Order: sequence, then structure tokens, then C-alpha cells
Amino acid sequence: MNYVVVSRGDDDSNRMMHTFHHLAGIRGMTLNPEEPDIVISIGGDGTMLQAFHLYVHRLDRTSFVGIHTGHLGFFADWKAIELEQLIECVASSTPDNGMRQVHYPLVELEIVTSQGTRTHLALNEFTLKGVESTLVAQININDDLFEKFRGDGICISTPIGSTAYNKSLGGALLHPSLDVLQIAEIASINNRVYRTLGSSMVLPKHHHCDITPRPGQNLLLTLDHISEQRRDILSIRSRVSTQKISFARYRPFPFWRRVREAFLGYETNPDG
Ligand code: NAD
Repeated sequence: MNYVVVSRGDDDSNRMMHTFHHLAGIRGMTLNPEEPDIVISIGGDGTMLQAFHLYVHRLDRTSFVGIHTGHLGFFADWKAIELEQLIECVASSTPDNGMRQVHYPLVELEIVTSQGTRTHLALNEFTLKGVESTLVAQININDDLFEKFRGDGICISTPIGSTAYNKSLGGALLHPSLDVLQIAEIASINNRVYRTLGSSMVLPKHHHCDITPRPGQNLLLTLDHISEQRRDILSIRSRVSTQKISFARYRPFPFWRRVREAFLGYETNPDG
């Protein structure tokens, strides 16, 4: 079993990374940052986002697992004190002998600029926002004009990202078994010229959404934890990707239980 560890870089996470290397070596696992079968993220949800973008080119051959060194995360569900148990699980299972995985959908975005076209995958979401002023853009769905948007921005999220930025925007929480993406508005302005739906929308696989900003605007594009400012974005097409992320699952942790523990704080039945 080839593995790599991505650490958040703080003292606790780095200490745990060294312990992981030590115990993994004893269990016969091989550190291989170029071709890992499994990527261990140690830190928080942001660390998993970094790990995903580091190994996005190997999604069909790599699975991911997260250990948290702060509070419980959506991606980081193993606790520091469970490290030895996790290594035992990782070392004794391989992709060939039945490592259990769950596969979650991703959003693909195709960005057309005056420099050309490039494609990215988002694990949580991408957003497009105005920098000095509001974003003015036309939104098409499946090549039909849908609305003329004016406001702070647009957020397009995956189901697993629906609990992140999308949730703060009032979007729905979606179970990650659904092959869909969600479009949420960020503070839209509504008047007689610019009129938007106001609700978030969920698009199925094979549908696509094009955002065409008014030319020359200074825009902020965020992709999970990464951001860049550009003036030359001509359009962005998003759809559910044909690729998925695989998480290694060595024990059940149902999505709705994770939602309850993260947002409501109940670790057990509140009546029990
Ligand atoms: P960060 O450290 O500010 O993290 C933001 C918070 O989002 C953390 O508490 C993290 O645990 C949580 N988070 C990340 N992914 C999640 C998920 N899938 N479900 C539930 N919570 C999740 O920033 P970062 O580490 O660079 O992470 C970038 C992420 O922050 C973005 O992908 C975006 O979703 C989120 N974000 C949220 C808001 C907001 O809610 N207003 C604004 C900007 C960014």
C-alpha cells in the first residue's frame, strides 16, 4: 500500500504525521508521494481541500481519508487518538482486497478567457464575484437564457460542498450520493432590469450552466480554498464531472449524522 500524508503544517498535525510515518513503516506501508494509493490528510477540512488539489490528477487511482487535529470536520472524521486504529485499517486493506470506498460527485468548470480555455474540478464549490463592484452576468442553463444577474456573485457547489459556503448562502444540504450541482446566489440585486430567481437551484447530470460576465470586469474566481483575480474571463461553463473523489471508509459515518454533529452538536440522541 503506497501512501502519502498531507499535513496542515501546525505542530500538532506535523507531530501526528511523524507518528503516522513511524507506524506505517512498521506495518509495511510505503511512503510514495508520486503514486499514492491513499492520501492521508491531517489537519482540517482545508487540509483535505489542499490534498484533493495536489492529487486531482490521480482521482481514479487514489482514495482519501482525513484525520482532524482541531474540531470534527466534514472531510476529517478520524480523531487523533484513533491514529493506530486507522493505520491498522489502512494497512490491512488494499484496493484489490476490498477497501471500502464512497464516491462523491465533483463540479467541473471550463473557464474561457482571452488566453484560452482551461478546466478545473471543485471538491466544495467555485464562486465568481465582483471585486470593486457587483458582478454583472448573464446566466444560461442548457444554452437557454435563464436570467440577468447583478449582485455580489454566484456559488456553484457539489453535494459534499453543500454544507460549506453554499449553506451560508441559504442553499439546501444535499446528500453526496446525488449526482447534481447546486447554484446559489450571493446577495443578488433585484429590480426591473436585473431579475433573478432568488432561490438556489439543483441541476442534474448532463445539464450545464454558463455564466457570461459583462466584459472587462475585475472578477474574483475562487475554487475551494484557491482564489485568483482576472479581468479576462469570457465565460464559465459548469456541470457535474464524470470524475468522482473516492473516500476510504473503514467504518460507517452516515452523512446526516455528520450534519447533526457538525451543526447541531448532538453526538448522541438528544433524548437519550
Ligand atoms: P477556512 O479555514 O476559512 O474554512 C472555512 C470553514 O469551512 C471551516 O470551518 C471548514 O471546516 C469548513 N468547511 C470546509 N469544507 C466544508 C464542507 N464541505 N462542509 C462543511 N464545512 C466545510 O477556509 P479554507 O480552509 O480555505 O476552506 C475553504 C472553504 O471555505 C471553501 O471551500 C468554502 O466552502 C468555505 N468558505 C465559506 C464561506 C462562508 O461560509 N461564508 C466563505 C468563504 C469560504
